[in-house]
Amino acid sequence: MRDQLYINGQWVSPDLGNYLPVQDPATGEVLQQVAAGTEEDIDHAVRAARRAFDGGWGQSSGAERGQWLRALAKDLSEQQDSLAHLEVRDNGKPLPEARWDIADAIGCFEYYAELAEALDDRQDQSLAVSDARFRCRIRHEPVGVAGQIIPWNYPLLMAAWKVAPALAAGATAVLKPSELTPLSALELAASAERIGLPAGVLNVVTGLGSEAGSALTEHPGVDKLAFTGSVPTGAKIMTSAARDIKNISLELGGKSAFIVFDDASVDAAVEWILFGIFWNQGQVCSATSRLLVQDSIAPRLIERLVEQTRRITIGPGLEPGVLLGPLVSQGQYDKVMGYIDQGQATGARLLTGGQRPAHLPRGYFVSPAIFDEPALDSALWREEIFGPVLCIKRFHNEAQAVQMANASRFGLAAAVMSADPERATRVANLMRAGIVWVNCSQPTFVEAPWGGMKHSGIGRELGQWGLDNYLEVKQVTEYVGAEPWGWYLKP
Ligand code: NAD
Repeated sequence: MRDQLYINGQWVSPDLGNYLPVQDPATGEVLQQVAAGTEEDIDHAVRAARRAFDGGWGQSSGAERGQWLRALAKDLSEQQDSLAHLEVRDNGKPLPEARWDIADAIGCFEYYAELAEALDDRQDQSLAVSDARFRCRIRHEPVGVAGQIIPWNYPLLMAAWKVAPALAAGATAVLKPSELTPLSALELAASAERIGLPAGVLNVVTGLGSEAGSALTEHPGVDKLAFTGSVPTGAKIMTSAARDIKNISLELGGKSAFIVFDDASVDAAVEWILFGIFWNQGQVCSATSRLLVQDSIAPRLIERLVEQTRRITIGPGLEPGVLLGPLVSQGQYDKVMGYIDQGQATGARLLTGGQRPAHLPRGYFVSPAIFDEPALDSALWREEIFGPVLCIKRFHNEAQAVQMANASRFGLAAAVMSADPERATRVANLMRAGIVWVNCSQPTFVEAPWGGMKHSGIGRELGQWGLDNYLEVKQVTEYVGAEPWGWYLKP
């Protein structure tokens, strides 16, 4: 059991000696305690990260850092099975999903190992400027110390999305995992220790957002803040970053639309709609939680969707065959049930689900819910529920569908399903979202940019864009003219 903080390559007890319980969402039982990091602990971690940055990591070659990232990936892959089980006990998700996440996290370290190596070739590229008496070269230099704060829905994967590109770029990191799911981030620290990663390059401080999290955002020694989480917390972090003009990237919430036209295959549509809203219990920032169906296909599609939703096996994530596990916490359970109760009270029709299953008296289980025709201005339709709740509305024509899809303060993702490739392309191009899926929903690739428009965030993670988040671009311009410059000093 790991209940300490990982700072400067060592396991240390929290400054004030306080601990937080971590629960198993399938039972509500306490799995273990973890350290409640304080402002003092954050300060130690940020100082350690600075020393590591100045002491060599910041000047190391991409090739060296690539080797460290590969070593991390290898070490994690040796723990793959135990990490997947740990993620299920900590977060609640079904085991096959956890296995998928762990494999993706390992793939993320491998991918950024390659990008770290390639960075050496991007270094010192010459840039033609308009005056031949000057020579200009471009450097990509690491941003410094990165403060990274992540949510609970993909614990190790979100840690990988943050830590891998930062380390690849030559930055050092202080990672603050969610207090609800801190266990796999501590295992990542243990991997760093096992491979002998230089002290201070990766520090993991568990604790509450209001304490460890806010101390990290306010610390003047942090050069870059990278945050994934809710819009209200993102706004607080942005405000705090503004005081220090910190470089910031935000991956926030969503309320993504899925448009299904009447030429789509009903079976294919149902498959991707289910995947888009019930994967990970709907606790997915990009969940396609607003379904827009063309009116002529709606009766057939909705009937099949409800029938299939009722067949989803719900239970503890470690039980074979389970497709939907518990929500992550009592707080999340109460929040989701609150939306369901409010939706029914305000006249939206609940077609199925939205209850605690009778055979699961303990834990935070909610059966997958589908609402028909909530009001356009209702909380159900407008707000991010972050649970297994799908809302359906009908549309008549393409323009109306695009208008309804884009009428949201969020702009993370969207999906469109149609047998007409021209229409699908046209609609995809009109969607105000950072990610658009055509004839599918949710596939995510480490090579492709991830992030949102509007209230869904600022900046992009993954791919080259993820690495650029942790790089400063520098120009070095040299005078090479044959004659003296001769402005003040005349010959
Ligand atoms: P949250 O905002 O409550 O917490 C996220 C993290 O911020 C946690 O580690 C928490 O401890 C910390 N935190 C809380 N208050 C803080 C403060 N004042 N200062 C600094 N840190 C603080 O979000 P959550 O409930 O953990 O996650 C769910 C949210 O995350 C959803 O809105 C979801 O859409 C979003 N999310 C977005 C993406 C994306 O890529 N866009 C991915 C996953 C989750």
